Amino acid sequence: MSSDLSEADEVSEQRLERLDAETRGAMLYPGEPGYDEARAVWNGMIDREPGAVVRATGTADVVAAVDFARETGVELSVRGGGHNVAGKAVTEGGLMLDLSEMTGVRVDREAGTVRAEGGATLGDVDHETQLFGLATALGAVSETGIAGLTLNGGYGHLSREFGLAADNLVSADVVTADGEVRTASEGEHEDLFWAIRGGGGNFGVVTSFEYALHEVGPEISVFFVWFHADDAPAVLERFEDWAPDAPRTAGVLPFAGHVPELDEFPETARNEPALALLGSARGESDDPGSVFRPLAEAATPIADLSGPMPYESLQSLLDEDYPDGLRYYWKSIFLTDLTDEVVDIVLRYNETAPSKLSTIDIWHLGGAVSDVPQDATAFWHRDKLFMVNFEANWEDPAADDANSAWVREGFEELESLPVATGRYGNFPGLDDEPARLLYGENYDRLVDVKTEYDPGNLFHLNQNVEPRSER
Ligand code: FAD
Repeated sequence: MSSDLSEADEVSEQRLERLDAETRGAMLYPGEPGYDEARAVWNGMIDREPGAVVRATGTADVVAAVDFARETGVELSVRGGGHNVAGKAVTEGGLMLDLSEMTGVRVDREAGTVRAEGGATLGDVDHETQLFGLATALGAVSETGIAGLTLNGGYGHLSREFGLAADNLVSADVVTADGEVRTASEGEHEDLFWAIRGGGGNFGVVTSFEYALHEVGPEISVFFVWFHADDAPAVLERFEDWAPDAPRTAGVLPFAGHVPELDEFPETARNEPALALLGSARGESDDPGSVFRPLAEAATPIADLSGPMPYESLQSLLDEDYPDGLRYYWKSIFLTDLTDEVVDIVLRYNETAPSKLSTIDIWHLGGAVSDVPQDATAFWHRDKLFMVNFEANWEDPAADDANSAWVREGFEELESLPVATGRYGNFPGLDDEPARLLYGENYDRLVDVKTEYDPGNLFHLNQNVEPRSER
């Protein structure tokens, strides 16, 4: 059978009908009500038309969809939270397995863990764990899916203290290409557990993630200060000195962008290029005045929005900046050092951004992420203290070329610097670079695990690790 469902013959049609009968969740076909909503993902640049969408309600539906794809050769895509920038959750013509209705979350207070289904968002998890003043380390925007985020690593406000989202994984239920349901953990299917912590969606469909929990909040100190672009070099110089010795209970994400048209900002500054620092501090660092003072005093701010807030509010603070359906092109690279050349590129490109919604972010990493040996999980780039992410965010399709070119050109300059290296799987552009760049010296072992669990490369709509052709 063709990998495209529109070319299905009579036998294949019957197999599709069987899948429809086997699944509890809805099957949606082109032209049917709900189909267009189901195929739409966060990035409005993605406009692919699957031959069918199956909205799984549980693991049995996932197994049925995986069996169907393996038996027929129809291309399979897997949607968790639908927030992958490259839109890999949507196949053109094949079967889209949509987990967005699988969002159940259960906290086990005695074990200190939380279990969440494969379609849950960060907000779904934080909402339940914060009920008990607990959290696991996830990302920084509540609408993002836990699945893609965790499988590719996952940085957020808690990472410097508690590691990547993947480092907090205790176990995962995975439907592998043979249709088996396997629980992967330190004690079971260790090779699979190693691979899914950083190796992306290459190894199966995760129906349930179990994470370790930590005491967080409910209220934490947030540092959110905006400076004019003229002051940005001085502020970033201060940040560069501050970051290596910063306490693990504090972190800051500087981003270059433009001042929003909001009441919180002076009218004269709106739309001007600027540098914002967004950070948070907890526990022993919970005296934001002293932890962040060197940064706050680096220059006179345009606006200081710092203050205590519920952890859940911090997690959704940026949500409205990333609405569904806008056009996005994001690319990231790790840095061993934040040199003057890097700062120059970040600030120069910010000035020329075709869209004032775009930002260039400097992630502050290290801490617990770097404690874990690079070969202990599939996630390789743990040793870098910084990462830069070019984020082009724009509305008008006519501006696609200008915005993509802006990212590509800035990225090319950055990439040519000796301090720039590797790639981060969660900010992958439109998947326009070799997956090898993500995995460093872990790549060969990933190929081994892929060959073991997915020899036919059923799960290839991701940053693909190809199995060996001979077994
Ligand atoms: P989807 O688009 O649903 O899926 C992406 C891919 O993941 C799929 O193609 C598939 O290969 C795989 N996949 C999805 N679900 C499953 C599953 N259940 N089992 C197996 N494979 C699956 N990253 C960070 O590290 N930190 C951040 O703070 C952060 N903030 C972000 C903010 C926004 C607004 C956005 C859009 C992204 C952000 N990211 C961040 C990046 C984010 O982690 C990735 O985009 C991630 O891929 C999103 O996961 P998803 O489940 O929503 O993706």
